[in-house]
Amino acid sequence: MTFGSTICRMAADATMQGLRATLEEERDSLRGQLVELGHGAKGLDYDPNFADSSQVTAERGENEALVNKLVEGLRDVEHALEKVGTDTYGVCEDCSRPIAAARLEAKPEARLCIDCAAAANNRR
Ligand SMILES: [Zn+2]
Repeated sequence: MTFGSTICRMAADATMQGLRATLEEERDSLRGQLVELGHGAKGLDYDPNFADSSQVTAERGENEALVNKLVEGLRDVEHALEKVGTDTYGVCEDCSRPIAAARLEAKPEARLCIDCAAAANNRR
C-alpha cells in the first residue's frame, strides 16, 4: 500500500518535472520571439518617434497584435510555472475541477478546463 503510493508519488513528480521543462522551453521561446520583435525586458514600450508614416503604422499594428499574443501567452506560461508543483496546478481556475490530463499535455499552461475555456471563448 505504502509502496504503491510512493511509486505513484514519484510518477507525479516526474510528470511535474516534465511539465516544468516544457513550460520553461515555451517561456524561453516566447521571450526569444519577443526579443526578435524588439521587445526584451522592456516590455511593450514603443519608441514614440518610430512611426511617422502610415506604412510603418500598418506594420506596427500587425506587429503589435503579434506582440500582444506573445505577451499573453508568456503571461499564461509564467503563471503556470508558478503553479507547477503546487496543488493549484491542473485545477481549473473557474470551476475548480481538475483539468483533463490530455488537455494539459497539449496545453500545459491551460488555466481553465475545456468546458470553462469554451464558455470563456463564447463570452468574447
Ligand atoms: Zn472549469
